[in-house]
Amino acid sequence: MNKIIFLLTALLMFSCKQEQKPVEKDLEAPNPVSSKPKIIDLTHEFSEETVYWVTAKEFEMDVVAEGHTDAGYYYAANNFATAEHGGTHIDAPIHFAANKQHVNEIPLEKLIGPAIKVDVSERSFTNPDYLVSIEDFTNWEKEHGMQIPEGSIVLLETGFSKYYPDKKKYLGTDQRGPEAVKLLHFPGLDPEAAQWLVDNRKINSIGLDTPSIDYGQSKDFKAHVILLSENIPAFENLTNLEQLPTKDFEVVALPMKIKGGSGAPLRIVAFVNE
Ligand SMILES: [Zn+2]
Repeated sequence: MNKIIFLLTALLMFSCKQEQKPVEKDLEAPNPVSSKPKIIDLTHEFSEETVYWVTAKEFEMDVVAEGHTDAGYYYAANNFATAEHGGTHIDAPIHFAANKQHVNEIPLEKLIGPAIKVDVSERSFTNPDYLVSIEDFTNWEKEHGMQIPEGSIVLLETGFSKYYPDKKKYLGTDQRGPEAVKLLHFPGLDPEAAQWLVDNRKINSIGLDTPSIDYGQSKDFKAHVILLSENIPAFENLTNLEQLPTKDFEVVALPMKIKGGSGAPLRIVAFVNE
């Protein structure tokens, strides 16, 4: 009997030891900071050139101070004003879905983490009304021999960032105001593909290099409604996506934390292992 208890105790100790191993391994796992990956900025600058929705107020900056003071030090400070939805920015769920999260309420887990890129630039660069399709996602999956991993940040590369900030090429029009909305032409996500993602894959957030997750000619902004209703935030007007691989990279997307905001200017970067 004693022998059995001894054996059981030994077995328990052994199994405890076995369990500890993966924890030690996790601590040794490379993290984005210690292994010094390349950091790629996916953000456009904010300036008077920044592209805004044709009905939104554009970026304004007033110089408050710039120069050497009488006290002997140099001093610079500005005031700026911006619409939430312009330049590189985030759409918070509340933008198109009642009672959903405001920008300050989006969990950081949705904004920081592993990412994939779906490159549709060959098809969309020559077609300003291109809709990213279910097939684009299933093709990515076939090519990589895996499903879009749970918790992914999904980036769509249409190639349209190359036109930025030429409004005529990037938006389809350089006119402004409500009348200009029908002149918008740029690629976006097919609402059917948005529905497929929501129903079949568990993604954390989505982003693309055009002014809107719905294409320019959209009348009902259905991709917005489908994604934001599921608390999946959208990043818009991204850039430098051509510098990213199609998987195995991390994204950090931190918007300005505007209380009650429906969106906000966003600084978004990717960590790519070289
Ligand atoms: Zn927006």
